Amino acid sequence: MKVVIIGGVAGGMSAATRLRRLDEHARIVVFERGPEVSYANCGLPYFIGGVIEERDALLLQTPASLHRRFRLDVRVRHEVTAIDTAGKTVTVTGPSGTSFTETYDRLVLAPGARPRPLATRPAIPVITLRTVQDADAIDAALRAPRTPVVVVGAGYTGLEAVENLVARDAQVTLVQRGAQVLSPLDPEMASPLADAVRAQGVDLRLGVSLESIEADGVTLTDGSRIPAAFVVDAAGVTPETALAEAAGLRLGETGGIRVDETNRTSDPDVFAVGDGVEKQDLVGGDAALVTMAGLANRHGRSVADVIAGREISARPALGTGIVGVFGLAAAKVGWSEKALAAAGRPHYVVHVHPASHAGYYPGAETLSIKLIADPDSDRILGAQIVGRDGVDKRIDVIATAMHAGLPAAELAHLELAYAPQFGSAKDAVNIAGYVAENVRTGTTPSLQWHELGAARDAGATLIDVRSPAEFAAGSIPGALNLPLDELRDRLAEVPAGDLVVHCQVGLRGHLATRLLAQHGFPVRNLDGGYRTWLAGFSAR
Ligand SMILES: Cc1cc2nc3c(=O)[nH]c(=O)nc-3n(C[C@H](O)[C@H](O)[C@H](O)COP(=O)(O)OP(=O)(O)OC[C@H]3O[C@@H](n4cnc5c(N)ncnc54)[C@H](O)[C@@H]3O)c2cc1C
Repeated sequence: MKVVIIGGVAGGMSAATRLRRLDEHARIVVFERGPEVSYANCGLPYFIGGVIEERDALLLQTPASLHRRFRLDVRVRHEVTAIDTAGKTVTVTGPSGTSFTETYDRLVLAPGARPRPLATRPAIPVITLRTVQDADAIDAALRAPRTPVVVVGAGYTGLEAVENLVARDAQVTLVQRGAQVLSPLDPEMASPLADAVRAQGVDLRLGVSLESIEADGVTLTDGSRIPAAFVVDAAGVTPETALAEAAGLRLGETGGIRVDETNRTSDPDVFAVGDGVEKQDLVGGDAALVTMAGLANRHGRSVADVIAGREISARPALGTGIVGVFGLAAAKVGWSEKALAAAGRPHYVVHVHPASHAGYYPGAETLSIKLIADPDSDRILGAQIVGRDGVDKRIDVIATAMHAGLPAAELAHLELAYAPQFGSAKDAVNIAGYVAENVRTGTTPSLQWHELGAARDAGATLIDVRSPAEFAAGSIPGALNLPLDELRDRLAEVPAGDLVVHCQVGLRGHLATRLLAQHGFPVRNLDGGYRTWLAGFSAR
């Protein structure tokens, strides 16, 4: 059997090497149009910042090493320009510019994604951050101190680029079309990232995009002029589908190559994996574009199994992702609250702010966790976590729970590893489960930061149950301060009618809600407390 693979990085190379492990006799040919295969594109921002010091560290394999170990026929600087599915051939242009055809029995497309072109003609360099050559170009453009750079797009790659450009002493402006950074997150969760970026001297411009690019900088859609020696384009990617489309392979509704659960395209002998491909979303069940390395690698591996005759299907996507920015980590899995609201899908939300490990052990940091679940089934629909320590393991626990179909309340019962430097006897994930159970069962009715205004307009009184010192240090305008520890003795001062109570992070608010409810007051807890409200308020 002869298998031809188009694209020699994450998905393509996972397919090629797994196939060799399963079939020693297959002929495996990989065409890669770039000069490198199997390079660490996720490491590119850190090469620019100097965290990864050696360029060679990004180059995980070479055609020679892949031939030595796996007997793969890997040809770099070879671009596939056409696919003939009827004749089962591909047309390839090699480094000398001459074209030839190559036959296949099975074809795997792993062409990745390409940047969406900026809608403006550049007069200074516009550099994407996709390849080792892009990283070289940015590195070369950063020779002078305080080089002014405009980064377009505050998603995962844009934020990583900003952090590493700052590490190189660049004078960075970050331009984001949306109203918040990191749009997969909800605004109150993204707001600490915006603060962290600004605290590093980055000029963050939200709600604007590029109008034009001039010889000395850029003009934004609000008319402001920003000096720039060059622009880093991290505005997003779109699936690389030109070849597939020209070959008559079906594309899906999202614009990615359409595949079935075995990653087979509309042609039975052609498979496709990675960023170019439409995935099935685990939460919604519909098609989705998820451009993540883990998915490309796993689907590359499973497609090799299918080609080798094994019965296996690729698992749907959860969109689990994480990014680090200036010491903060932000991670998400599944759907956001805003996406669920836009889709009209019922959900309930909890915010908790536990410590990353036992508070008495040095170095504990606050974690902000948002958990979203279905009010009927309690199925977890999504989670977001922001903090300085322990974000990665908590999001991975919740992603695993979602993969396994655990309900939110079941998080309370997970037996997680604990010693003071690693966690707490009640781990942050357990606490999210406790609160979810309290909220869903109505034990502690709650409302969200963005629902507070409407509740107060409808006549609810807001009671801040924090200490007078905390209240004096900053409070929600118009709140009445009745500290939790005095509440039982001051019940006569509690106004009649609907009440909303809040504390700093939600725990004392929960205690006050339980106390007041058992004294007959109609009361709800402001979910996530003052901290979540403030983050949401400042994101507006
Ligand atoms: C800077 C950066 C940082 C990232 N960081 C992360 C991260 O931290 N975590 C994460 O999960 N994901 C991250 N990603 C995304 C991740 O790299 C991609 O999801 C993953 O590489 C997709 O794999 P793929 O095989 O589909 O495509 P790619 O890895 O992009 O490979 C596609 C290859 O196909 C080649 N090709 C395309 N068309 C042809 C053709 N016609 N002929 C021959 N060759 C062709 C291309 O040259 C390319 O090399 C990052 C991406 C970038 C760019």
